[in-house]
Amino acid sequence: MGSEDNCTNIKYSNDCLKLINNTFQKLLDLDSINYQIELEKSLEEIGSFFDLDRIYIYYFSKDPTFMQIESQWNKIGISPKRETQEEEVVYTLPWLIRKIKSNNFVAINNLEEFPAEAIFEVEAFLKEGVKAFLIIPLRSENKLTGFVGYESLSKSVAWEEDEIEVLRDISKAFSYTRSKILKEKSYEAIINGQAILLNNSESQIWALSNVTSYVTANEAHAKFFGKKKSDLEYQDLYDIFDIETANKFSENNWELFQKNEPGEKELEIKNFQGENRLLKIKSKPERDESGNIKYLVCTADDITEQRLAETELYKAKEQAEAASIAKGQFLANMSHEIRTPMNGIFGFLELLESTNLSLEQKEFIREAKSASEVLLHIINDILDFSKIEAGKLTMEKIGFNLRNTIEDAVSLLVPKAAEKGLELYTMIKAGVPEEVVGDPSRLRQILNNLISNAVKFTKHGEISITADYLGEENGLAVLNFEVMDTGIGIHKGNINKIFQSFIQADASTTRKYGGTGLGLAISSELVKMMGGEIRVKSTLGKGSTFEFDVKLKVVKGASQEKFAFEKLDGVNILVVDDNTNNRKIVSSYLQGTGFKIFEAKDAASAITTILSNANTKNKISIAIIDYKMPDMNAYELATTLKTMPFTKDIKLILLASLTQKGDARIAKEHGFSSYLGKPVRRDDLLGCIAIVLGLKKEDKEEKQVITKHIVKEIKNTLKPRILLVEDNVMNSKIVISMLKTHNMTCDVAVDGCEALKAVSEKDYDIVFMDCQMPIMDGYECTSKIRLLEGDKKHTIIIAMTANAMEGDLEKCIESGMDDYISKPINFDIMFSMIEANTKDRGLVDGYNNMIDNNIHYLIEGTGLEKDDAKELLEEYIKYLPDLLRGIKESIDNNDFDKLVDLTHELKGSSGTLRVVSIYKLAVKLEEAASKKETDECVRLFDEIKDLFH
Ligand code: ADP
Repeated sequence: MGSEDNCTNIKYSNDCLKLINNTFQKLLDLDSINYQIELEKSLEEIGSFFDLDRIYIYYFSKDPTFMQIESQWNKIGISPKRETQEEEVVYTLPWLIRKIKSNNFVAINNLEEFPAEAIFEVEAFLKEGVKAFLIIPLRSENKLTGFVGYESLSKSVAWEEDEIEVLRDISKAFSYTRSKILKEKSYEAIINGQAILLNNSESQIWALSNVTSYVTANEAHAKFFGKKKSDLEYQDLYDIFDIETANKFSENNWELFQKNEPGEKELEIKNFQGENRLLKIKSKPERDESGNIKYLVCTADDITEQRLAETELYKAKEQAEAASIAKGQFLANMSHEIRTPMNGIFGFLELLESTNLSLEQKEFIREAKSASEVLLHIINDILDFSKIEAGKLTMEKIGFNLRNTIEDAVSLLVPKAAEKGLELYTMIKAGVPEEVVGDPSRLRQILNNLISNAVKFTKHGEISITADYLGEENGLAVLNFEVMDTGIGIHKGNINKIFQSFIQADASTTRKYGGTGLGLAISSELVKMMGGEIRVKSTLGKGSTFEFDVKLKVVKGASQEKFAFEKLDGVNILVVDDNTNNRKIVSSYLQGTGFKIFEAKDAASAITTILSNANTKNKISIAIIDYKMPDMNAYELATTLKTMPFTKDIKLILLASLTQKGDARIAKEHGFSSYLGKPVRRDDLLGCIAIVLGLKKEDKEEKQVITKHIVKEIKNTLKPRILLVEDNVMNSKIVISMLKTHNMTCDVAVDGCEALKAVSEKDYDIVFMDCQMPIMDGYECTSKIRLLEGDKKHTIIIAMTANAMEGDLEKCIESGMDDYISKPINFDIMFSMIEANTKDRGLVDGYNNMIDNNIHYLIEGTGLEKDDAKELLEEYIKYLPDLLRGIKESIDNNDFDKLVDLTHELKGSSGTLRVVSIYKLAVKLEEAASKKETDECVRLFDEIKDLFH
């Protein structure tokens, strides 16, 4: 191999060093394009230098069981190692491959050197005519990647050590260059791939080196401005764009650079067609090692169309909102429009009822009234429901007394329950707060709906209403309400449906019980708005229990107890009732008052309890007795107690439900100090006990408690001063006529101006104020009245309006009104408002006049002292209202026998006491009564009542 010079000390030969240098330099600078050619040139140079016939480089494939020749050189006249570049199976040369893997080289000087096991190799090399070869493995990053073969076909070679070393070094350059080229290639592929992505991206992408200089940009960004990518790269904005665009863009860039962290901005900018487009730009700074911004990379999407769609959507939303406002307004109008004629229907029916009618006509009116009530109920339900649907229903937040609200809701249903012979129990458990903040009318509505359903769907038994305090949650009291009935129950399959709108448990319900199927749907929404939910448990044929929670704010520090009974330790009270529930309720209301409570389930055990405790510290002072008991009723028990020396001083309180109420006079005759209607209100019960014990005077307020209906009757003889402010003639007519039935009159003002004038001239007890009127409406008028009065005076002003929409009440109160009565007017409410606000001047005057006008007859006729005569007359006058009420009732009921009796009594007492004016009329009335002349009786009775004015 080579010349003698070359062979000796090859390492140090200049030519050899030159070769090594050249090869390395050439290969290390190679790029992928020239790689093959230059590599083959190097192989040729090496081959010539070392006098070889062939050099070839094999690389293993990805699958290392294959290899492929990549470059080769052969001397002229010598055939190439391989004619084509194809993958070959590695294990055709098993011995050799093994050697390559484990050695730094394989040198064969002649073929005889092959060991016996290299049979495949011997055969292959013989076939090719190879005489000697040197194989050097190629490695990259410590991995065998291929090998280089140096061959001699013309002769055998004695491979020298230093020669092998040189070739090994040179071979390193091969593998290094190849792996470098490969890396470059794959990098290029990545770059190309990314370029494909970047340039085909719909989003615009660019990078800036400062506020006005691009580094690069993708096609989409360039295209937006009608440019090529290369137009932008490394260019200044002001050299590319018109001044306006450049200004806008650089201003935008300035802000993004200033931000110095990832940012987002919208920019409206003209595209190449001069159209204004909205770009949503996201930017991210790329920093150098010291944290300074190297580039600001931006991406942008054209959101012009998207924004347009959003604007359209927003407009549509606004339109929908406007429609919903219109819907709400429509509801308000509709509510007003429907209630006004309903007011007429109710009012005239009521008036018609108070005229002389045959029984048949009365029956027709009763039917018409009940039909209109149903209609009003349905209208209210539908209005409420539409309000919920339109999102117009909101909750009030006002302070109210929870106990009163519950008790009010219950008492509203008492007459209906009594009509069906059902008992109603209310149990407000200890811990339920008194004063809370929320919407009392909506709470009443829920209770009212559940209780009226309970009454509606129950034939026999009882309905109990329980309120309980469950605890505190986020500063709010969680209250639980339960309405339990013993009615028809609900089928399991229907139980989840009944809270849906317009759904009734089964179709036959509608026919039998009526209703819209809206009540529970509304209640359930209302409960949700109060932070709770409504549930029901029911057994068909046994009854149902509806239950709901609400969350209410408690008014702290509100006086929870109106009556102070602390001093009364030692007062023992006996509750007599056959109904355990009722006893429990009454007892629970007396808990914590200092009283000791005893219970008896019937008259017999009551008497036993009283007698057995008579001489002990448990001596009973008060007995609260239910009217209806199985063995002996309350009157019989009272009579018995009053006849026995040990028991005759016990104060008796009668508990009566509406149908059993009897009258106060009879109760008094039987020795009762007072009576209370069921369901009992705790305040009434405590107030009643306080009066019976002489703890409180029977002042005006308490008088109403102890002898409620007597006060009412007397009040009818009052002359309240009423101003009615109303522009609608029909409405005024109804109110005036209604007042007339109670012997009351009123002044009328047709607008706010007239009302203002009237109030400034006369002292009214009460003003009923319509809200919507021409010239000056009710709100303005009220504000002006309040301004006029200052703090010297306060005329009671009650709004009377058909507006029943949410917010109306606040509007009334804000303008200075005291209360609100909605149309159609509930006349009971109207009269109780009049009653509550009428000053007692009429009553006192009437009494005094009566006594003054008649006392001289009595003195003359009897020779009594003036004081004694006065005392007698005062007694007579006290009992007169009861008697007159009885007379009125018997006229109303066409009960002429009773009328004759009572008129006779009146005639007797007024005759004895020489109250001549009454006596004369009583004589005539008795006569008319015995002749059953209804009209005459009514006329004469009115005349008697007029005597008090
Ligand atoms: P409706 O006006 O029909 O009473 P609600 O929504 O108040 O409407 O009640 C829906 C239905 O639920 C009723 O028709 C009735 O079938 C059933 N339901 C409600 N309360 C009771 C109850 N206490 N006992 C039995 N069924 C009841």
